[in-house]
Amino acid sequence: MTAYEPVIGLEVHAQMRSRTKLFCGCPTDYGAPPNTHTCPVCLALPGALPVPNAKAIELAVQAGLALECDVASHSVFARKNYFYPDLPKGYQISQFELPLNGKGHLDIEVDGETKRIGITRIHVEEDAAKNIHGSGASAVTLVDFNRGGTPLVEIVSDPDLRSAEEAEAYLRKLRDILMFIGVNDGNLEEGSFRCDANVSIRPVGQEEFGTRAELKNINSFRFVKKAIEHEIARQEGVLQNGGTVVQETRTWSEGQGKTISMRSKEEAHDYRYFPDPDLPPVAVSEERIEALRAALPELPAAKRERWQRELGVTDYDAGVLSGHPEIAKYFEQATRLFVEQSGKKGKDAGKKVANFVQAEVLRHVTTDGLAASFPVAPGAIAELLGAVEEGTINGKIAKKVFAVMVETGSAPNVIIEEQGLAQVTDTGAIEEEIRRILDASPSQVAQYKDGKTNVIGYFVGQVMKATKGAANPKAVNEILLRLLDEQ
Ligand SMILES: [Zn+2]
Repeated sequence: MTAYEPVIGLEVHAQMRSRTKLFCGCPTDYGAPPNTHTCPVCLALPGALPVPNAKAIELAVQAGLALECDVASHSVFARKNYFYPDLPKGYQISQFELPLNGKGHLDIEVDGETKRIGITRIHVEEDAAKNIHGSGASAVTLVDFNRGGTPLVEIVSDPDLRSAEEAEAYLRKLRDILMFIGVNDGNLEEGSFRCDANVSIRPVGQEEFGTRAELKNINSFRFVKKAIEHEIARQEGVLQNGGTVVQETRTWSEGQGKTISMRSKEEAHDYRYFPDPDLPPVAVSEERIEALRAALPELPAAKRERWQRELGVTDYDAGVLSGHPEIAKYFEQATRLFVEQSGKKGKDAGKKVANFVQAEVLRHVTTDGLAASFPVAPGAIAELLGAVEEGTINGKIAKKVFAVMVETGSAPNVIIEEQGLAQVTDTGAIEEEIRRILDASPSQVAQYKDGKTNVIGYFVGQVMKATKGAANPKAVNEILLRLLDEQ
């Protein structure tokens, strides 16, 4: 049986976070009542003329810079002609021969290996409106023009991906970057980050590509992986049964768990691209490009690397904490405040904050696009960990205090005070308690004297029980060893 190798290229449409549309002043907010964000330009009324949105162009340049693309100082808007009810002009304004961003790349990690995926181009285009199909016998299709004219970047990868896992890793990494630089809100459910996948297979060792199928508009990472895996298996089945793969557009049906043919695939020449005579070429000066490069925030990969170096967190922890821009910011703020308050070194502080945020804080965090809500402010985490550092409470009590912080919103030190949770550091009181326990446990004391030192754990447990976990563990250990040696 012939062994096949998949060849995958991805086209991602990402909505840019510009307040207004690409060629008019209509707002881009999601979820407004249908057809309330429209004007003569985005409804294509006769005589209306487009004016490019400078902010959207800048965001697209930043997307290009973050993906190491060659940014063109001269690019051209082109008309992509086709008829569809969600496209009132009869053409979409896109870019064709001269896109804003040329060749770039993105490095992905799969199974511990780094692989460089080429970016063919990143161009700017407007989104189409949205058709809302009714169902049933008397169903009609309605068109909501709110989305029509929304600014997008289309990010086209080289056909460098060789598995569904690589495709998923690429998409996740791409989304992270666009979110961290504030170009896109990463919201797959609302369709602001959508993916088309070109999938073909070829016999292993063959240079020439096979015939590809395009999988359209897959709106979750999980579906991308499943859709590509299914499509690879489908094409293998076709070839192994002596058939030929047809070039076509397919869609993923989650309900049926398979890809379904939609239509035969168009070629570029079907769209009769030509430069849009209503729009002058886009000019971005070298100075402007450099200013936009300088304004780029730290990218997630650089952040992870720096955190490991400066803040002592593990590769895994860094991955979790950089999973969302707001979580990254929260971690950095809590660490900075903890360092300021405790005087600890970044390496010790970062590790402690990372552990606590992952173990306790994250399960209370909810994210929605670029927004995130946290149970308590980062300063409160710094204060709480500071109390552990000073020996006022131990790590176990810190978790209790945190639960009360989440419930009441009170400051950690107030809760520790009110609930009497401060550790007993009064060595007299601890000593008294230990003497009582030793007197009550003659057999364990005898075991200790026989050299079974692991019985210490038993005594520590008893002291903690008696003091409801509030005894300072260091003091307990010291006194315990001293008194045991006196026995
Ligand atoms: Zn408009």
